Amino acid sequence: MATDYDAPRKTDDDLSEDSLEELKNRRMDKSSGIVDVDESDLNESMELPGADLSNEELAVRVLPRQADEFTCSQCFLVHHRSQLAKEKDGRLICRDCAA
Ligand SMILES: [Zn+2]
Repeated sequence: MATDYDAPRKTDDDLSEDSLEELKNRRMDKSSGIVDVDESDLNESMELPGADLSNEELAVRVLPRQADEFTCSQCFLVHHRSQLAKEKDGRLICRDCAA
């Protein structure tokens, strides 16, 4: 009677052990490849927003007209401030006109 119980149990243990080993091996293979990608991703996304925000806050206060736009004094078009090439006598000139 006791051997009847033991026999099936042993085979069960053997099976689960095998699959566990397989899972471990597969996990290690996958995670080792994923960790590299995650680290570089985190570094980039964490650095960029912080630097950008502080820059934008300063620029917004320097330009009183619009939050993040300016009117070119030569073509009179409204550009995003990222297109600002230079400022001459308080007149703003876009990249197109400065080129
Ligand atoms: Zn212009």
